Amino acid sequence: MLGVTILGNNSAIPAHGRHPTAQVITTPDDLLLFDCGEGTQIQILNYKIRRGRINHIFISHLHGDHYYGLVGLLSSFALLGRNQPLTVYGPAPLKELMERHFALSDTDLPYPLHFHAIEGAGLLLDAPHYTVSCFNTKHRIECRGFLIRQKKAERRRSDKPRSYAFTADTQFDEALIEIVKGVDLLYHETTYPHALADKAYARFHSTTHQAAEIAKRAQVGKLLIGHFSAKFEEIEPFEVEAREIFPATEAAREGVTYLV
Ligand SMILES: [Zn+2]
Ligand SMILES: [Zn+2]
Repeated sequence: MLGVTILGNNSAIPAHGRHPTAQVITTPDDLLLFDCGEGTQIQILNYKIRRGRINHIFISHLHGDHYYGLVGLLSSFALLGRNQPLTVYGPAPLKELMERHFALSDTDLPYPLHFHAIEGAGLLLDAPHYTVSCFNTKHRIECRGFLIRQKKAERRRSDKPRSYAFTADTQFDEALIEIVKGVDLLYHETTYPHALADKAYARFHSTTHQAAEIAKRAQVGKLLIGHFSAKFEEIEPFEVEAREIFPATEAAREGVTYLV
């Protein structure tokens, strides 16, 4: 199966019980982490994620709400006596950031930590049952979204192999339509409601209507929205707005696993 468990659905800062971005992807082979905002390891405990099965961590970009939880998580893996290898994929400077942390705290990792610098769009991981590739998004700094595709449909399911795309942070970008075309589940950020489209544009983020427009034109199966602005206590209005354009929309809720 492919499943997406939301650990953090908020933007920028934690607020209203919501956390910065992190998602666990369950695959037939292992678990993946897409982004690792602050609080990720607490959320992993809260939702009983089998952290020892996480073998690959993908970081979309170096805004803190997407990676401030990474060094803490990697350190905890060390304290827990992890010995199987772990690979982190992310922007090139992330390697130095991690190494500085571990050097200054005199931390020796007891497990092999590999780093894969993401240079551009393309294939990142070819696992037995799935592939992960990345694509560029339109953001204030270099940012990538991720696309996971199952290689073969499961035997008891007669339909096609499943696919999931995660846009990370992005301004409305028509180029995404072709990239995420026909995926079963699309997670598109909706930092702002429709009324704040100007603000979204200025800050390189998207609105509910923009995410829904991408979903509609890309003919995806279902749209999940998240990365909600901390200014808004309620997320239901985001869902209502996006459904005006793309009815098969759900606001991503923390602790919920969405089957792809
Ligand atoms: Zn963000
Ligand atoms: Zn960002």
